Amino acid sequence: MQISPHDTRDMAARVHNLTKIFGAGDSRVNALDDVSLGIRRGDFTAIMGPSGSGKSTLMHIMAGLDNATSGRAFIGDTEITGMSDLDLTVLRRSRVGFVFQSFNLVPTLDVADNIALPFELAGRAPSAIARRRIDTLVETMGLGSRLRHRPHELSGGQQQRVAIARALATQPDLVFADEPTGNLDSRTGREVLALLARASREHGQSIAMVTHDPVAASHADRVIFLGDGRVTADVPRQSAETISAFMLSQEVGA
Ligand code: ADP
Ligand code: MG
Repeated sequence: MQISPHDTRDMAARVHNLTKIFGAGDSRVNALDDVSLGIRRGDFTAIMGPSGSGKSTLMHIMAGLDNATSGRAFIGDTEITGMSDLDLTVLRRSRVGFVFQSFNLVPTLDVADNIALPFELAGRAPSAIARRRIDTLVETMGLGSRLRHRPHELSGGQQQRVAIARALATQPDLVFADEPTGNLDSRTGREVLALLARASREHGQSIAMVTHDPVAASHADRVIFLGDGRVTADVPRQSAETISAFMLSQEVGA
Protein backbone atom coordinates (compact mmCIF):
# COMPACT_ATOMS: atom_id res chain seq x y z
CA MET A 1 0.00 0.00 0.00
CA GLN A 2 1.37 3.39 -0.90
CA ILE A 3 0.01 6.29 1.09
CA SER A 4 0.76 9.93 0.64
CA PRO A 5 2.44 11.68 3.58
CA HIS A 6 -0.50 14.10 3.41
CA ASP A 7 -3.14 11.40 3.80
CA THR A 8 -3.60 11.27 7.56
CA ARG A 9 -7.20 10.03 7.53
CA ASP A 10 -7.94 7.59 10.30
CA MET A 11 -4.34 6.53 10.78
CA ALA A 12 -3.27 5.79 14.35
CA ALA A 13 0.32 5.43 13.17
CA ARG A 14 2.06 5.45 9.82
CA VAL A 15 5.48 5.27 8.27
CA HIS A 16 6.75 6.49 4.92
CA ASN A 17 9.70 5.08 2.98
CA LEU A 18 11.16 3.60 6.12
CA THR A 19 14.63 2.12 5.87
CA LYS A 20 16.59 0.59 8.71
CA ILE A 21 20.14 -0.61 8.36
CA PHE A 22 21.95 -2.39 11.18
CA GLY A 23 25.72 -2.73 11.20
CA ALA A 24 28.17 -1.96 8.44
CA GLY A 25 30.43 -3.76 5.99
CA ASP A 26 30.10 -7.54 6.10
CA SER A 27 27.65 -7.43 9.00
CA ARG A 28 25.37 -4.87 7.32
CA VAL A 29 21.67 -5.87 7.48
CA ASN A 30 18.91 -4.03 5.64
CA ALA A 31 16.17 -4.83 8.18
CA LEU A 32 13.59 -2.51 6.56
CA ASP A 33 13.72 -1.58 2.90
CA ASP A 34 11.44 1.30 1.87
CA VAL A 35 8.37 0.36 3.93
CA SER A 36 5.30 2.62 3.76
CA LEU A 37 2.14 1.68 5.65
CA GLY A 38 -0.48 2.98 8.03
CA ILE A 39 -2.21 1.37 11.00
CA ARG A 40 -5.87 2.38 10.72
CA ARG A 41 -7.53 3.83 13.78
CA GLY A 42 -9.62 1.27 15.63
CA ASP A 43 -8.34 -1.65 13.57
CA PHE A 44 -6.89 -4.86 14.88
CA THR A 45 -3.96 -5.38 12.49
CA ALA A 46 -1.84 -8.54 12.37
CA ILE A 47 1.76 -8.34 11.15
CA MET A 48 3.26 -11.60 9.90
CA GLY A 49 6.37 -12.77 8.14
CA PRO A 50 9.31 -15.15 8.51
CA SER A 51 11.81 -14.75 11.32
CA GLY A 52 14.19 -11.89 10.50
CA SER A 53 11.77 -10.22 8.05
CA GLY A 54 11.79 -6.96 10.05
CA LYS A 55 8.59 -7.23 12.10
CA SER A 56 10.08 -6.25 15.47
CA THR A 57 12.18 -3.49 13.90
CA LEU A 58 9.05 -2.02 12.27
CA MET A 59 7.07 -2.13 15.53
CA HIS A 60 9.91 -0.50 17.50
CA ILE A 61 10.25 2.35 15.00
CA MET A 62 6.47 2.87 14.75
CA ALA A 63 6.27 3.07 18.55
CA GLY A 64 9.16 5.53 18.74
CA LEU A 65 11.45 3.07 20.54
CA ASP A 66 14.08 3.06 17.80
CA ASN A 67 15.13 5.44 15.03
CA ALA A 68 14.92 4.73 11.33
CA THR A 69 17.97 5.08 9.10
CA SER A 70 15.76 7.06 6.71
CA GLY A 71 12.07 7.72 6.21
CA ARG A 72 9.39 9.23 8.40
CA ALA A 73 7.19 7.95 11.22
CA PHE A 74 4.01 9.42 12.69
CA ILE A 75 1.89 8.61 15.73
CA GLY A 76 -1.53 10.03 14.87
CA ASP A 77 -0.80 13.39 13.27
CA THR A 78 2.44 13.88 15.17
CA GLU A 79 5.67 13.25 13.34
CA ILE A 80 8.03 11.40 15.67
CA THR A 81 11.02 11.34 13.30
CA GLY A 82 13.74 13.38 14.96
CA MET A 83 11.66 14.16 18.06
CA SER A 84 13.64 14.60 21.28
CA ASP A 85 13.74 11.62 23.62
CA LEU A 86 11.86 13.55 26.26
CA ASP A 87 9.00 14.60 23.95
CA LEU A 88 8.84 11.10 22.57
CA THR A 89 8.67 9.58 26.04
CA VAL A 90 5.81 11.88 27.02
CA LEU A 91 3.92 11.12 23.79
CA ARG A 92 4.45 7.38 24.18
CA ARG A 93 3.34 7.36 27.79
CA SER A 94 0.07 9.07 27.00
CA ARG A 95 -0.80 7.27 23.77
CA VAL A 96 1.05 4.00 23.25
CA GLY A 97 1.15 0.59 24.93
CA PHE A 98 3.82 -1.91 23.97
CA VAL A 99 4.06 -5.64 24.66
CA PHE A 100 7.62 -6.72 23.96
CA GLN A 101 8.80 -10.13 22.87
CA SER A 102 11.08 -10.05 25.93
CA PHE A 103 8.46 -8.75 28.44
CA ASN A 104 10.58 -5.83 29.75
CA LEU A 105 9.23 -6.12 33.27
CA VAL A 106 11.05 -4.31 36.06
CA PRO A 107 12.73 -7.11 38.06
CA THR A 108 12.62 -5.29 41.40
CA LEU A 109 8.88 -4.52 41.21
CA ASP A 110 6.14 -7.00 42.01
CA VAL A 111 3.30 -7.79 39.60
CA ALA A 112 0.92 -5.13 40.92
CA ASP A 113 3.59 -2.40 40.70
CA ASN A 114 4.70 -3.52 37.23
CA ILE A 115 1.12 -3.21 35.99
CA ALA A 116 0.74 0.20 37.66
CA LEU A 117 4.10 1.42 36.28
CA PRO A 118 2.62 3.50 33.40
CA PHE A 119 0.66 5.53 35.98
CA GLU A 120 3.70 5.84 38.25
CA LEU A 121 5.83 7.08 35.34
CA ALA A 122 3.15 9.57 34.32
CA GLY A 123 3.05 10.82 37.92
CA ARG A 124 -0.67 10.20 38.37
CA ALA A 125 -2.65 7.74 40.44
CA PRO A 126 -5.03 5.45 38.53
CA SER A 127 -8.62 6.78 38.54
CA ALA A 128 -11.43 4.62 39.93
CA ILE A 129 -12.25 3.56 36.35
CA ALA A 130 -8.61 2.68 35.66
CA ARG A 131 -8.44 0.67 38.90
CA ARG A 132 -11.50 -1.32 37.85
CA ARG A 133 -9.94 -1.87 34.42
CA ILE A 134 -6.73 -3.13 36.08
CA ASP A 135 -8.73 -5.45 38.36
CA THR A 136 -10.50 -6.89 35.30
CA LEU A 137 -7.19 -7.33 33.44
CA VAL A 138 -5.62 -9.04 36.47
CA GLU A 139 -8.59 -11.39 36.72
CA THR A 140 -8.73 -12.14 32.98
CA MET A 141 -4.98 -12.79 32.93
CA GLY A 142 -5.28 -15.09 35.98
CA LEU A 143 -2.78 -13.02 37.97
CA GLY A 144 -4.88 -12.46 41.10
CA SER A 145 -2.77 -14.77 43.27
CA ARG A 146 0.53 -13.43 41.90
CA LEU A 147 0.22 -9.70 42.62
CA ARG A 148 3.01 -9.68 45.25
CA HIS A 149 5.39 -11.86 43.21
CA ARG A 150 8.41 -10.50 41.36
CA PRO A 151 8.97 -11.36 37.69
CA HIS A 152 11.69 -13.97 38.44
CA GLU A 153 9.13 -15.88 40.52
CA LEU A 154 6.81 -16.22 37.53
CA SER A 155 6.76 -18.50 34.50
CA GLY A 156 7.38 -17.04 31.03
CA GLY A 157 3.67 -17.17 30.28
CA GLN A 158 2.80 -15.36 33.52
CA GLN A 159 5.40 -12.67 32.81
CA GLN A 160 3.92 -12.23 29.35
CA ARG A 161 0.46 -11.78 30.87
CA VAL A 162 1.78 -9.11 33.27
CA ALA A 163 3.28 -7.28 30.28
CA ILE A 164 -0.07 -7.42 28.48
CA ALA A 165 -1.99 -6.16 31.52
CA ARG A 166 0.53 -3.31 31.84
CA ALA A 167 0.20 -2.35 28.15
CA LEU A 168 -3.60 -2.20 28.40
CA ALA A 169 -3.84 -0.63 31.89
CA THR A 170 -3.96 2.98 30.66
CA GLN A 171 -6.24 2.05 27.72
CA PRO A 172 -3.84 3.66 25.22
CA ASP A 173 -5.05 4.69 21.72
CA LEU A 174 -2.46 2.49 20.15
CA VAL A 175 -1.08 -0.87 21.26
CA PHE A 176 1.87 -2.66 19.68
CA ALA A 177 2.16 -6.31 20.66
CA ASP A 178 5.17 -8.30 19.48
CA GLU A 179 4.24 -11.99 19.51
CA PRO A 180 2.10 -11.56 22.63
CA THR A 181 0.88 -15.16 22.58
CA GLY A 182 4.24 -16.74 21.79
CA ASN A 183 4.92 -17.87 25.37
CA LEU A 184 1.38 -18.77 26.32
CA ASP A 185 -0.49 -22.06 26.36
CA SER A 186 -3.27 -22.17 23.79
CA ARG A 187 -6.08 -21.35 26.22
CA THR A 188 -4.35 -18.27 27.68
CA GLY A 189 -3.27 -17.32 24.18
CA ARG A 190 -6.89 -17.30 23.07
CA GLU A 191 -7.85 -15.16 26.07
CA VAL A 192 -5.14 -12.64 25.21
CA LEU A 193 -6.37 -12.49 21.62
CA ALA A 194 -9.95 -12.02 22.74
CA LEU A 195 -8.77 -9.23 25.03
CA LEU A 196 -6.92 -7.45 22.21
CA ALA A 197 -9.84 -7.91 19.80
CA ARG A 198 -12.20 -6.50 22.44
CA ALA A 199 -9.87 -3.54 23.04
CA SER A 200 -10.23 -2.59 19.37
CA ARG A 201 -13.93 -3.47 18.99
CA GLU A 202 -15.31 -2.03 22.23
CA HIS A 203 -12.85 0.74 23.05
CA GLY A 204 -11.78 1.75 19.53
CA GLN A 205 -8.13 1.11 20.39
CA SER A 206 -5.80 0.49 17.46
CA ILE A 207 -3.91 -2.76 17.87
CA ALA A 208 -0.91 -3.88 15.81
CA MET A 209 0.11 -7.43 16.68
CA VAL A 210 3.01 -9.49 15.38
CA THR A 211 2.14 -13.16 15.29
CA HIS A 212 3.23 -16.42 13.67
CA ASP A 213 -0.10 -18.01 14.42
CA PRO A 214 -2.56 -18.10 11.47
CA VAL A 215 -5.46 -18.67 13.86
CA ALA A 216 -4.48 -15.58 15.85
CA ALA A 217 -4.11 -13.54 12.65
CA SER A 218 -7.52 -14.72 11.39
CA HIS A 219 -9.09 -12.61 14.17
CA ALA A 220 -7.51 -9.43 12.82
CA ASP A 221 -9.30 -6.90 10.60
CA ARG A 222 -6.27 -6.82 8.35
CA VAL A 223 -3.09 -8.83 7.83
CA ILE A 224 0.19 -7.29 6.66
CA PHE A 225 2.98 -9.64 5.57
CA LEU A 226 6.64 -8.68 5.61
CA GLY A 227 9.41 -10.48 3.75
CA ASP A 228 13.04 -9.35 3.68
CA GLY A 229 12.19 -5.94 5.08
CA ARG A 230 9.42 -5.22 2.57
CA VAL A 231 5.63 -5.42 2.62
CA THR A 232 4.73 -8.48 0.54
CA ALA A 233 0.96 -8.47 1.11
CA ASP A 234 -1.65 -6.29 2.81
CA VAL A 235 -5.08 -7.88 2.93
CA PRO A 236 -8.39 -7.64 4.82
CA ARG A 237 -9.48 -10.41 7.22
CA GLN A 238 -8.66 -13.91 5.96
CA SER A 239 -9.36 -17.41 7.15
CA ALA A 240 -6.60 -19.22 9.06
CA GLU A 241 -6.35 -21.65 6.10
CA THR A 242 -5.73 -18.86 3.59
CA ILE A 243 -3.15 -17.26 5.89
CA SER A 244 -1.35 -20.61 6.36
CA ALA A 245 -1.27 -21.18 2.62
CA PHE A 246 0.19 -17.72 2.03
CA MET A 247 2.84 -18.20 4.74
CA LEU A 248 3.83 -21.49 3.18
CA SER A 249 4.12 -19.96 -0.30
CA GLN A 250 6.35 -17.21 1.14
CA GLU A 251 8.63 -19.63 2.98
CA VAL A 252 8.93 -21.78 -0.12
CA GLY A 253 9.60 -18.72 -2.26
CA ALA A 254 12.27 -17.42 0.12
P1 ADP B 1 11.64 -10.27 13.03
O1 ADP B 1 11.04 -9.58 14.21
O2 ADP B 1 10.75 -10.27 11.82
O3 ADP B 1 12.11 -11.65 13.35
P2 ADP B 1 13.75 -8.28 13.30
O4 ADP B 1 13.07 -6.99 13.05
O5 ADP B 1 14.02 -8.64 14.72
O6 ADP B 1 12.93 -9.46 12.57
O7 ADP B 1 15.13 -8.33 12.52
C1 ADP B 1 15.25 -8.00 11.15
C2 ADP B 1 16.71 -8.16 10.73
O8 ADP B 1 17.49 -7.19 11.40
C3 ADP B 1 17.31 -9.50 11.11
O9 ADP B 1 18.20 -9.88 10.10
C4 ADP B 1 18.02 -9.22 12.41
O10 ADP B 1 19.10 -10.10 12.58
C5 ADP B 1 18.49 -7.80 12.20
N1 ADP B 1 18.57 -7.06 13.48
C6 ADP B 1 17.54 -6.76 14.30
N2 ADP B 1 17.97 -6.04 15.36
C7 ADP B 1 19.30 -5.88 15.19
C8 ADP B 1 20.32 -5.21 15.95
N3 ADP B 1 20.04 -4.56 17.08
N4 ADP B 1 21.59 -5.27 15.46
C9 ADP B 1 21.88 -5.91 14.31
N5 ADP B 1 20.98 -6.54 13.55
C10 ADP B 1 19.69 -6.54 13.98
MG1 MG C 1 10.68 -10.24 16.14
